[in-house]
Amino acid sequence: MAKEDQKFAIGIDLGTTYSCVAVWLEQHSRVEIIHNQQGNKTTPSFVAFTDKHRFIGDAAKNQTVTNPENTVFDAKRLIGRKFSDPIIQKEKMLWPFKVVAGVNDKPMIVVKYKGQEKSLCAEEISSMVLMQMREVAEAYLETPVKNVVVTVPAYFNDSQRKATKDAGAIAGLNVMRIINEPTAAAIAYGLDKKTNCVGERNVFIFDLGGGTFDVSLLTIKDKVFQVKATAGNTHLGGEDFDNEMVNYFVKEFNSKNKVDISGDPRALRRLRTACEKAKRILSYDITTDIELDALFKGFDFCFSISRAKFEGINMELFEQCMETVERCFTYAKMDKSIVDDVVLVGGSSRIPKVQELLRDFFDGKDLCKSINPDEAIAYGAAVQAALLNEGMKNVPKLELLDVTSLSLGEVTKSDIMSVVIPRNTTIPVSKTKEFVTTRDNQSEVLIGVYEGERARASDNNLLGSFVLSGVPPAPRGHPVYVCFVIDSNGMLSVSAEEKTTGNKNEIIITNDKERLSPEEIMRMIQEAEKFQAEDKKFLRKSKAINSLDMYVYKMNNALEKKDIISKLGLLTREMINLEIKMGTKLLDGKNEHDEAYVYEDYLKELESFYENTIGKIG
Ligand code: AMP
Repeated sequence: MAKEDQKFAIGIDLGTTYSCVAVWLEQHSRVEIIHNQQGNKTTPSFVAFTDKHRFIGDAAKNQTVTNPENTVFDAKRLIGRKFSDPIIQKEKMLWPFKVVAGVNDKPMIVVKYKGQEKSLCAEEISSMVLMQMREVAEAYLETPVKNVVVTVPAYFNDSQRKATKDAGAIAGLNVMRIINEPTAAAIAYGLDKKTNCVGERNVFIFDLGGGTFDVSLLTIKDKVFQVKATAGNTHLGGEDFDNEMVNYFVKEFNSKNKVDISGDPRALRRLRTACEKAKRILSYDITTDIELDALFKGFDFCFSISRAKFEGINMELFEQCMETVERCFTYAKMDKSIVDDVVLVGGSSRIPKVQELLRDFFDGKDLCKSINPDEAIAYGAAVQAALLNEGMKNVPKLELLDVTSLSLGEVTKSDIMSVVIPRNTTIPVSKTKEFVTTRDNQSEVLIGVYEGERARASDNNLLGSFVLSGVPPAPRGHPVYVCFVIDSNGMLSVSAEEKTTGNKNEIIITNDKERLSPEEIMRMIQEAEKFQAEDKKFLRKSKAINSLDMYVYKMNNALEKKDIISKLGLLTREMINLEIKMGTKLLDGKNEHDEAYVYEDYLKELESFYENTIGKIG
């Protein structure tokens, strides 16, 4: 455990289904993955709301079955997207919680908290998960945590990256850098193998997590990591394998019992949880049983499933993974034979069939499993955080070169996308391109900035637009220069200049419409603090009730011991009984008093009473 003056750096893997936090400890020159309060190294990215409290992580996930409408997960799928985005429209059907269109088409999650309806954006939910990870780190380090590196999937676009940064701000964190998840894994891998890293190595990162799938091709040379190409699938991972299993078992259960379970969300949730557990077992065992008492209309659920059956159910999805792997090599214009190491990342990469298909794809090459697949990303993020901290001398010096995930460009006449920075260009980068006026004496030029791979600009994602004015009178074809700059966080700014006059205009692409304004962020920070205060109050009350309960129990026990009773006078015994009764009454009516001090004060009274009576004879 770190003392207050110890130097450390924090990396957070903010996952779709699970999150993980790691710390670089300067004194020990190593990374540690921090366990949460439940002793787990990964924490579910779940937030739940009830009539009384808010839960985050394991506590939230554990109550999903009883409170599905108010248990929010998958915020990472929503972040930085519009409500009308086809992906959100499709996903929405699967979520038990409500998502509606907010201002400027921003998706808003609607939950009931303390009896009132509350609308929250994805940034707020993610900030709650980040805050939980921060608390996990603070509990371990016994000191406040502020500066962090947070990871995002390689395919995240500009607005998703910025929204993730905003989530960090709402959580009161300073997000020093946003890095790609496969890149973080590569850093972890590079450390792992640093002594063997002679010459140039081509590394393929296969990251199959709970909700997303990323692959990346990297080159490591002289401790420099360069991402050559990435490919991914926004919706492919462990949750999909669970869903396929659920669909299979719904059919089996329905036909066996002549019922239809598919309209019962609670039963389906129980089944999904059991399927996830069975899936994990099938990575080590060749068969397992699932038993759920009275799952639906009094019918028990009792089925076996073999690894072969599980593989059969999910074969199409596994094959989709391999198609994505192939696509990455097409993007990189490289042959798979150049790969030196194939690295497994993400919990779902433990599935034996996935490993087998991958091994076959690489013509029998051994897969690297030396890094724990659940921890590699947070591990790499912590190293990156340490590298950004100038005070850290012991961290191995690595230089990280990343690439853009989407092409960036400007719309030209006839709605054509003119690419300025192609996809997979190494960042940070700055590129200038000449554009020309399309009309005689055109005094203003509208610069529309897009990201995406489609030829027609309007089929791509509009990031922002601005006007360059003061262009001098000239026949059409007069040049203006547009400069695209991407910083090391993958964030874009665009400027335009007319050289003869020196007129310049610039925008930092903030995705104004979807992105939170500074005022909104401030309001959310205050709300987050309120939430946190409420959570703390709840925890304090729970602790106080627990301690009082234990003390009443202890006094009751003492009164049952004959040697103690014999030494106490009748009056004292009656007084102790009275104290116990009052304590029990207080505990029975625990919903009447909201304040922790009621229980804490009574506990103090009991303790002092105990010391002066039983304590004196014991
Ligand atoms: P991650 O997002 O990397 O934390 O991965 C979480 C996903 O990995 C979840 O869908 C888990 O069910 C899945 N997972 C974890 N362990 C295993 C395992 N042993 N076999 C199969 N899937 C697993």
